[in-house]
Amino acid sequence: MSLAPLLVRQALLAPDGPAIFNGTDVWATHALWAQRSAALAQRLRAAGLQPGDRLVLFMRNHPRYLELLWGAWWAGLAVVPVNAKLHPAEVEWIVDNAQARWAFVTRDVAPRPLAGLQRQIDVESSEADALLAPLPDAALPAPHESAPDDLAWLFYTSGTTGRPKGVMITQRNLMTMGMGYFADVDAVAPGDAIVYAAPMSHGCGLYAIPHLMAGARHVVPASGGVDAAELFALGDALGPLSTFAAPTIVKRLVDHAEAQGLTPTDAARAFKTIVYGGAPMYVADMQRALRVMGPRFVQIYGQGETPMTATALSRAHIADGAHPDHAARLASVGVAQTPVQVRVADADGQSLAANEVGEVLVRGDSVMAGYWRNPEATAAAIRDGWLWTGDMGALDPQGFLTLKDRSKDLLISGGSNIYPREVEEVLLTAPGVSEVAVVGAPDAEWGEIVVAFVVTAPGAAVDAQGLDAHCLARIARFKRPKRYVFVDALPKNHYGKVLKTELRVQAAGLTG
Ligand code: AMP
Repeated sequence: MSLAPLLVRQALLAPDGPAIFNGTDVWATHALWAQRSAALAQRLRAAGLQPGDRLVLFMRNHPRYLELLWGAWWAGLAVVPVNAKLHPAEVEWIVDNAQARWAFVTRDVAPRPLAGLQRQIDVESSEADALLAPLPDAALPAPHESAPDDLAWLFYTSGTTGRPKGVMITQRNLMTMGMGYFADVDAVAPGDAIVYAAPMSHGCGLYAIPHLMAGARHVVPASGGVDAAELFALGDALGPLSTFAAPTIVKRLVDHAEAQGLTPTDAARAFKTIVYGGAPMYVADMQRALRVMGPRFVQIYGQGETPMTATALSRAHIADGAHPDHAARLASVGVAQTPVQVRVADADGQSLAANEVGEVLVRGDSVMAGYWRNPEATAAAIRDGWLWTGDMGALDPQGFLTLKDRSKDLLISGGSNIYPREVEEVLLTAPGVSEVAVVGAPDAEWGEIVVAFVVTAPGAAVDAQGLDAHCLARIARFKRPKRYVFVDALPKNHYGKVLKTELRVQAAGLTG
């Protein structure tokens, strides 16, 4: 059970099959991919890197990412995937914490040498070409025999508070995630193709694993970024494509399809499956996505500590508009994925009854081994074999999990708990509201009051009074925002998640 042999298998089964695409151009067949990864592995070992050593990838999405990933695993190394938008000082902190000596980079994200490294290689240099050039002997050297518990992926959390933590993801964790894709997300055939729209340094890149397991094609957009027009064009040329997209990317795809007057049939030509997750998808947004692009969506909920694998909301559940619980199901993140158990517990770890809100706990073979060099944090996160996700949620009697908010996002006004997500869902159904984020602000009388940051659609006439009336008609009085702040955009992190911490500071400035 390990990752490198997956590539050996495809190199034997379908050597001449185009495997990696740079835009619409074939970058490598399975055979060439395997030869390059095997050659890289041999040269890394010859240069002194040992199994278990960490190899940093600090790059934009690039077809070479896949060759480097499997090259590292072929040599028995662990990859440290670094978000391309991090500041060099943050990357240097990670290099030091991970005790990594080598890094592959793209020049655009790493224009200068990073401190602490022995070697920093530009993936578009002749140095990289030489490291990856197939060995003269046609036979592939056997990959290092990794054990299931060997470290494969040392993923640093985005760390909205304090320093990031290195999440130790093992070979077994990734193999489990990969096979879980077929059980809970989608079937994949050799003719299929995945396009890497979101950062390959995150969960999106990990979806290379199930797609290699199935012998599918891997497409890296030439821009290396997220451009809806480019993604649709790639879909028309090579598709229909599967992809992983955060809700903000889904929104861009839907906006594009609508602006171009595309029908769901057009969308079906470009996209087979759009897997979304990583942040809340509001019901109104998913209903619109279904209307515009048709039933090609699957939702997953996971986190770095159990990558892509906690719950899933299937295509069938999302598409079943006639079901009496359809809206509630769209607001949920679905049911436990096959490889894991999910429960909701109180602070003592006691399971709660259906519909009661508590912390979401996950157990299974996708759950991390722990945090790198941080036993205290590991002991806090994994207790009695269960991962404490830090997410609050409730399970309904059928096992559908609805996430409330992370415990720190919950706000308490006049002694009542208010879940910002619920208020956001309501505000998003108001005409002219494009994006919204709700936070609490300190208040002498109420403890906290609800503040809504609102982005309006271009040209829409939206005011606080109208939104207040909209809320009064739909939710309890005490939940409605007492203040509205109209903004051009919401602050977001590198993965498109709204930075509520920043908004809380702004909100406190208004009331303080
Ligand atoms: P990360 O570890 O950076 O992948 O972030 C994981 C966090 O994103 C989770 O703990 C959740 O708070 C949030 N998240 C992931 N998937 C979903 C989803 N489908 N819906 C809502 N929030 C999600």
